[in-house]
Parts: sequence; structure tokens; C-alpha cells
Amino acid sequence: MSSGMINHWIGGKAWEKPAERTGDVWDPASGKVRSKVAFASPAVVDHAVATAAAAFQSWRSSSLAKRTRVLFAFRELVEKRKQELAELLSMEHGKVLSDAMGEVSRGLEVIEFACGIPDLIKGSFSENVSTDVDVYSIRQPLGVVAGITPFNFPAMVPMWMYPIAIACGNTFVLKPSERDPSAPMLTARLLAEAGLPDGVFNVVHGDKTAVDRLLEHPGVAAVSFVGSTPIAKYIYETGTKNGKRVQALGGAKNHMIVLPDADMELAADAAVGAGYGSAGERCMAISVLVAVGDAADKLIPKIRERIGKMKVGPGLDASSEMGPLVTKEHLARVTGYVEKGVAEGASLLVDGRAIAVPGHKDGFFLGPCLFDEVSPQMTIYKDEIFGPVLSITRAASYDEAIDLVNTNPYANGVAIFTNDGGAARKFQHEVQVGMVGINVPIPVPMAYYSFGGWKASLFGDSHIYGREGVHFYTRGKVITSRWPDPRHRGVDLGFPQNK
Ligand code: NAD
Repeated sequence: MSSGMINHWIGGKAWEKPAERTGDVWDPASGKVRSKVAFASPAVVDHAVATAAAAFQSWRSSSLAKRTRVLFAFRELVEKRKQELAELLSMEHGKVLSDAMGEVSRGLEVIEFACGIPDLIKGSFSENVSTDVDVYSIRQPLGVVAGITPFNFPAMVPMWMYPIAIACGNTFVLKPSERDPSAPMLTARLLAEAGLPDGVFNVVHGDKTAVDRLLEHPGVAAVSFVGSTPIAKYIYETGTKNGKRVQALGGAKNHMIVLPDADMELAADAAVGAGYGSAGERCMAISVLVAVGDAADKLIPKIRERIGKMKVGPGLDASSEMGPLVTKEHLARVTGYVEKGVAEGASLLVDGRAIAVPGHKDGFFLGPCLFDEVSPQMTIYKDEIFGPVLSITRAASYDEAIDLVNTNPYANGVAIFTNDGGAARKFQHEVQVGMVGINVPIPVPMAYYSFGGWKASLFGDSHIYGREGVHFYTRGKVITSRWPDPRHRGVDLGFPQNK
């Protein structure tokens, strides 16, 4: 199934000029090219930024009532077209439909949060700080802001950014992943349908060329990035060097500690769901299970039993629980890690490399892989694999387990499984990680909290979405005012309305 050429979205419409460079968009389940995507040149990026800049003055002056109405309408359209969006995600990313529906739902929650902008953006007021003098603070938008997003959540991660940025009065240029660009295009159309003025939301597709132009463009005030750690670091350093406000969320190596007193059935369900869900291509996936004391011996048979029942297949097949990896190159990379794990002496308990999915012999499938006896010196322990590979590391004590987590360079998510409230409380206090689950394997914060890791999982000091998102996309202004002379506006007997 081919959908032709996917082009940019600038000024409220699809860009029609042919691109000098394009990339292939794959259907990971069939292993065939589905469509081509245009790669923006610096000139196209400049045009998108200029279009967003031209839309800024009027959008920033639009009433909160108008912005909220657009967001409410957009929320309704996304809800109505959820299935279609999920199918697009599944077709280009490979994730199974139920997982894709979950992605859209979590994105929707950020749109719903952004609908509360009139309250979120309120400032403060101090009357009579001196005689007839008042002081008040307001928060104002930054201007044109850019979002650069990864392949693994092509709908949700951009939704972590633009609903809040736009609600705050900014205009937006999104550079989504070139591997699955269709979902952002559908959301661009839905924003236009919801009444968003042309130029407030723009999409440029492409690779490093487009990203670099955004990073150096003097018209871009701020950059939100989500992706791998080396690129996050590059984005942060380059963007800040060019005077921009930057938040850059990076990669992860999430540990799940299981204490010997944990509910082992619950822990096995959680490990399998969080290790293999979305084929391990989640920044909050559990990659290392740290089994304390005799927990490993209790858990391993339960995990193997669950893996044995797992259905791997194309994302659009409703019976599939795990889909393919995103590209052939990524499949080769993840398979390479499995080979390295064996070569470095880890014990491969379940080998997914020989998987055959009937009717999909060219699809990018890898079955679930389970390693035991993984030590911190091994490559599969150290690197972010981003595939369906779960490693078990054995620790003699709680102290040894938390030390593993706290000395890891990544610090996105972590989980502990235990029935001991005191141990859990001690853990939440001591652990050096941004998002912590207690008997919850993937602790992605709700839209009204903020999402972000620590250390090599986040560059910048601001987490994404929630109130930190509102803060990131606005800057403060404090006004000191003496105003003894009220103006007269004439007589109006009508009940006041928002316009
Ligand atoms: P990636 O870093 O390869 O790409 C992310 C974005 O950066 C894409 O838009 C891509 O086009 C662009 N990019 C890639 N190479 C570039 C370069 N050299 N210069 C400039 N721009 C470049 O990440 P990915 O493979 O798309 O996504 C997976 C990664 O994202 C994983 O590491 C995962 O942990 C991470 N991730 C993190 C979070 C989080 O919230 N911390 C969330 C989702 C994904």
C-alpha cells in the first residue's frame, strides 16, 4: 500500500513544490517502501519559520477564549479520528493497534491539559505596594518555537509540545521523524479544521539539514527536542550556543528492581509488558530487570511462560501483541546486540532471532529475547538497545540494586516492585531518576505533571508538558504601575462576552 509523496505543511496547506531530496518511509510489517517523504532544504525551513513569524503577532494577540476554542475543537477531531491516526502509526512505525490507540489517548490528555490555558497562564497581582502603585506579573509567548521529535511516538511526542506552545500564544514549526511522518500531517490538517489560523502550526520534514537550519535560525526562539542522547546533547549545545531556550530529552536505560517480597505474578506481567511492549521501542521501556536475592529464580519461569504465549505479528492484525521493529537497519542493530550479549557471556534464555511471521517474511520482526546473568560491564547492559531484549541482572541486596541505578549515566525512568512500603519510600527518596514507579513499570506522568529524566536523559532544566511546559513556552514580565486616572468607555447595556 503506497501513499505517494508526503510533503511539508506550511501556512495552513501542503507544500506543493517537489523536493530536491527525499527519504523512504517503510511499512515495517511487509518490509516494503510505503511512500516517500520530502526532505526540507534550508530555504524551505526559512520559509516555514518566516510563515510562523508572520502569524505570531496576530496569534499572540488572540484572546484566551479563542485559543481555547480552537484547542477544544481540535481535541474533538482527534478523538473522532483516533482510529485513523492509530492505523497510520501502526502502518509506519509497526506498533500494534491497541498500543497505537494508547499513544493517541496519552497525547489527547496533553491537548485537554492545554485547554486549561486561561487558568495555567494566570499571573499574580499585588495591590498598593506603594500608595496608588500596583505590581503584577504576566507570562508572554516566546515567538516561533520548534519541535524536533523521534520515531517511536510520532503522534504523542509532538503533542507533548505544540498544544501547550500554541495555547501560550507561540507559533510552531515541527520537524517530526522522517521515518513515520504521516501522523503529524493528519494532525496538521485537524488543527486547520479546528480553526487554527494559517501559519500557527507548520511541519517541515527532513533530516539533519532541516534540524541544523532550525538550530541556527535567528527567528526560532526555542527548541523542544525528544530523541537519542547523542543528538539531544548536540541539539542542546548548538541551540543554546545560538541563543535559544532548549529542552532536549534523551535516551534511557530503565531498570526495574524486584525485591524478594514482591508479588511475582504482578512483577512478571509488568516485566513482560514493559520490556516487550511496542517491541521495546519506548524511552520508558524496561530494559534491565534487577532481581534481588532469590527473586530471579522465582521470576524467570513466570516470564518465560508469558513470553511463550506472546503473539508477534503485523501491527494492523488485532490479535498481534508485539509488532516489528521500525526499519531493517534498526532490526540489524538490535540483532547485533543479541549476538554481542551471547559473545560477552550472558545467558540467552529466550532467543527471538529465528521468528517467522506467516505471510510477512520480509517484515522487520524480532521475537522477544531474554538474557540472564547480565553484568554491568557487558555492552547489552551499558547501551540503550531499543528493541525487544530484556536483561536480568542479579543483585545480592537492595543496596547493590539501587547502586546500579544511581551509577548509570541514564536516568529517565525506574521502577521498584515490593510489598514493603518502607523499602518503597526509601527508594523514592534515594533514587537518582526523574520518573519513578512503585509497582508500576512505566511511570509516564499524567499531562498535569511534567515528563522528564535526569542526567544523560535530559539536557536543559525544564521537563516537558504540564506546568513546566507552560513555563518553558513563556517568559515572565513584571509591571509596576501607577494609574490614578480611569478612562471612560461609554455606555454598554449588553452582558459582556468573550470574542
Ligand atoms: P534520534 O535521536 O535518531 O532522532 C530524533 C530526531 O532527531 C529526529 O527528528 C531525527 O530526524 C533528528 N536527528 C537524527 N539525527 C540527527 C543529527 N545527526 N542531527 C540533527 N538531527 C538529527 O532518535 P530516534 O531514533 O528517532 O528515537 C529513539 C530515541 O529517542 C531513543 O534513544 C529514545 O530513548 C529516545 N526517546 C526519548 C524520549 C524521552 O522522553 N526521553 C521519548 C521518546 C524517545
